[in-house]
Amino acid sequence: MINAINYIGGQRRMPQSEQVVENRNPANADEIVGKLAVSVESDADLAVQAAYAAFPSWRSAAGPFRGEVLLKAALILERRADELAELLTREMGKTLVEAKAEVLRGAAILKYYSAEGLRANGEQIPPSDGKSLLYTKRTPLGVVALITPWNFPIAIPLWKMAPALIYGNTIVLKPATNAGLTASLLFEVLHEAGFPAGVVNLVLGSGSALGNALIDHPFVQGVSFTGSNGVGRQIAQRASLRGIKYQLEMGGKNAVIVMEDADLEKAADSVISGAMKSSGQKCTATSKVIIVGSIKEQFIQLLMDRISAIRVGNGLEAATYYGPLATSDQQQTVLNHIQQGIAQGARLLCGGDIPKDQQNTKGYYVEPTLFDQVTAEMSLAQDEIFGPVLAVMEAETLDEAITLANKTKYGLSAAVYTRNLEAAMIFVERIEAGMVKVNGETAGVEYQAPFGGLKQSSSHSREQGRAAMEFFTNTQTISISY
Ligand code: NAP
Ligand code: MG
Repeated sequence: MINAINYIGGQRRMPQSEQVVENRNPANADEIVGKLAVSVESDADLAVQAAYAAFPSWRSAAGPFRGEVLLKAALILERRADELAELLTREMGKTLVEAKAEVLRGAAILKYYSAEGLRANGEQIPPSDGKSLLYTKRTPLGVVALITPWNFPIAIPLWKMAPALIYGNTIVLKPATNAGLTASLLFEVLHEAGFPAGVVNLVLGSGSALGNALIDHPFVQGVSFTGSNGVGRQIAQRASLRGIKYQLEMGGKNAVIVMEDADLEKAADSVISGAMKSSGQKCTATSKVIIVGSIKEQFIQLLMDRISAIRVGNGLEAATYYGPLATSDQQQTVLNHIQQGIAQGARLLCGGDIPKDQQNTKGYYVEPTLFDQVTAEMSLAQDEIFGPVLAVMEAETLDEAITLANKTKYGLSAAVYTRNLEAAMIFVERIEAGMVKVNGETAGVEYQAPFGGLKQSSSHSREQGRAAMEFFTNTQTISISY
């Protein structure tokens, strides 16, 4: 039985290929969570055609009408949150608590944007002749392709979709294949909410098979992508060859600086939570902690105490702190990073392997892993690991710590823990990160505020909040003389 198929033009639709992928539970690879029928280029074309056909009436629908459908989707998502969360956990492994919070975050995002159809979408500008009417207006792009990763399979599609739709675009979503069942269930919700046929479309299948078909399609006017830097760069090249808009949210190497005067207990809580929750598979996960001054031994002890209390296991079990890595490839990549760290001379303080009690299970687990004696050139300080691995670094001064934090090609999120206002403000001034926290976790974003990274973490556009309007609309300048 096939559990997930495309959704095109308002109905579920078998793809034009016979190929099927089985998604297995990363907590137990023997369990098949469901099967996806995967698509070929001609399916992507059908989805774009459907979105294109739906665009004229969706763009001219009144804002409150579009908002009403978004709001309905939010309420259905809330009603079905347990069902969606359970599937999400079984498909990609994060804990049920985090999965449920993600689904409810998705509903909140839809609610936030549902009102956006009634807010100002332009400005009036004084004309040079003193009497004509000169104003700007935001207009939708048209058909937009959304390409998303597996780590937030509900929230990321929705934080792209909700603004795209409320501003009058129609969309084709290409989710990560290994979160395709969750995406398909999300589309049941969107169907039930009553989006007109063709406004929202789903194509399932690998990015290498479908990505170019979407980006190169003459009816596609924009592409919004979240995922790895390598794929993001390819998308940018292709999109710019066609001269269409693109938006990329990519990797991070997120640092926390801990000052001597900080509330160390609180700082340790949030460093561990930022590094380990979701098995470290967040783009904003804490990946290196830079300890300033004489508190190193004390702070490492606080981290170790917390790590020893972490229970790694199946995300469906209530006691689990974090679950498996999403795939066996992901598990292997993380274990390789750990070996490389050891080989380069970092000191392994704890973890580093598959947990003892999981070595005979078929789950893709990795122990909470802590290194110290990590220096700036080591891969532990440079590469995005996307696993439960934390590197401890040392600095004499705040100045040195900020320099170490910034020594990476990424610039997504960063935090400082201090009670000293001056230190906090110097950090805010100098840190090269799009998301800056003082006494807060590097992970965790507010959907009503702009989100995105500096340097190679993004294409320098912003998602979420009202900032999403920048990407999902064009500006027209209108002059009316009378
Ligand atoms: P990925 O391999 O880049 O995949 C992301 C999406 O792109 C998937 O839907 C994938 O499809 C698709 N894709 C793959 N090759 C493609 C191609 N040639 N053309 C078009 N699309 C293609 O990333 P991932 O491994 O799923 O996710 C982890 C990465 O995402 C990490 O680097 C993480 O930092 C980043 N991330 C960033 C943010 C942020 O907001 N900054 C948030 C979450 C994650 P298939 O996988 O189905 O082939
Ligand atoms: Mg990938």
